[in-house]
Amino acid sequence: MIPISPADVEACVERLRDLIRIPSVNPPDGGVDVAAGRDPRGGETAVATHCAEELTAAGIAAEVIEAAPGRGSCFARLPATVADPEPPLVLLSHVDVVPVDAESWTHDPFGGELVDGVIWGRGAIDMKDMLAMELGVLLALHRSGAERRRDVILAAVADEEAGGEFGALHWVRTRPDLFADGAGRPAAAALNEVGGYPIHLGGRRFYAIQVAEKGILWTRITASGTPGHGSMPHADNPTVKLARAVTRLAEARQPMRLTPVVEAFLRGMGMDAVADAVARGAEDELAAILDAGLPDPVMRRSLDAMLRDTVTPTILRSGKKMNVIPGSGDGEIDVRTLPDTDQDAFLAQLQAIAGDEVTLSAVMAMPPVEAPADAPIVDLMHAALRRADPEGTPLPMMITPGTDAKALALLGIPTYGFAPLLLDPDTPFLSLFHAHDERVPASALAFGLPVLADVVGRFVIAR
Ligand SMILES: [Zn+2]
Repeated sequence: MIPISPADVEACVERLRDLIRIPSVNPPDGGVDVAAGRDPRGGETAVATHCAEELTAAGIAAEVIEAAPGRGSCFARLPATVADPEPPLVLLSHVDVVPVDAESWTHDPFGGELVDGVIWGRGAIDMKDMLAMELGVLLALHRSGAERRRDVILAAVADEEAGGEFGALHWVRTRPDLFADGAGRPAAAALNEVGGYPIHLGGRRFYAIQVAEKGILWTRITASGTPGHGSMPHADNPTVKLARAVTRLAEARQPMRLTPVVEAFLRGMGMDAVADAVARGAEDELAAILDAGLPDPVMRRSLDAMLRDTVTPTILRSGKKMNVIPGSGDGEIDVRTLPDTDQDAFLAQLQAIAGDEVTLSAVMAMPPVEAPADAPIVDLMHAALRRADPEGTPLPMMITPGTDAKALALLGIPTYGFAPLLLDPDTPFLSLFHAHDERVPASALAFGLPVLADVVGRFVIAR
């Protein structure tokens, strides 16, 4: 076991506050505005350096490496102490955060303020909280002096919020050794963000252990036409073609489908009626069940997106001047696919829906991620959660956004979303991601830190 004391929890809270106070906004060249008057350039390296300094001071070897100037990641390793060790465990996190609209915040988004037991600021849940807990677990493991049967690697990487080209993807491609042991064996597992939080439903508490992520199929849409004067309209107008096509794409709801993880998730929560309705393709029935039982619109959107491929037009660019019909235009569409969707075939299907006056092409395709839900480390997560909260029920879950798990999947490393937090039913966890007033109660960390330590300890410490 890795002992966690009240002082460790307090240190974790203060660590998170310190991390929030370092604006590590991505994109870092978005100017000082994105960090509410503070210059975010080099913020990722500053966070990575802050972590490395705390680890080094405690006697743990840590390094900061940059994929580009200012785009720093921190890597640290506690090596196995036994002969013939098992493959490593990675504690994965990202050091960057998304920009803020400071005027819309109740408290300074980079102040790390602790108000009535709640820590406010950008990164409080995405994901400097998990970074603070992972550091806390690594430090406590080191201090315990326990024998380790595998390396524990801390990887706090840059650029997750923009796809990882300067972070996880870069390091996976150029330095796979960072995620492997001395014999070159890739890690047995990685623990990462999002999952581990409680879902409150019908007076019960469920913990979502994230074993899967939807695939990404970012798609460009282009249209061309005949330029001309805005005073003389004609039919060959790319602005209108784009508008028509994205409307068709957004309004064509994709059919529902039950994937194994989502089915286990629904049935585990007692939502058999939902699972059955989805299996039958009964949209109206599903809507009626959700109307009656799931009033929270964000939970509902999240659930709906677990059941189908989604197509979300997000950017349109066409024309530069009020009185000029442009010759071309383009846009971007955020497409997310379920685990068994053939992405090429789906893109062809979307092209057919959009029609032949536009052209669709994939700009980034990342397959979905699925880690085994019956792995020993998942059993440890279940057990740790049950010990910490005997009334809670752990469940497997698929998230609809993507994380750095997709990068580690390229090395064959199964990555689990497991950032345990105990939150009350009034804390809208999923709604806080990238939102104004991002925050986390200190009590959530007081719950999460020992749970994370429990899992890591049992997975790593030699018996
Ligand atoms: Zn994140």
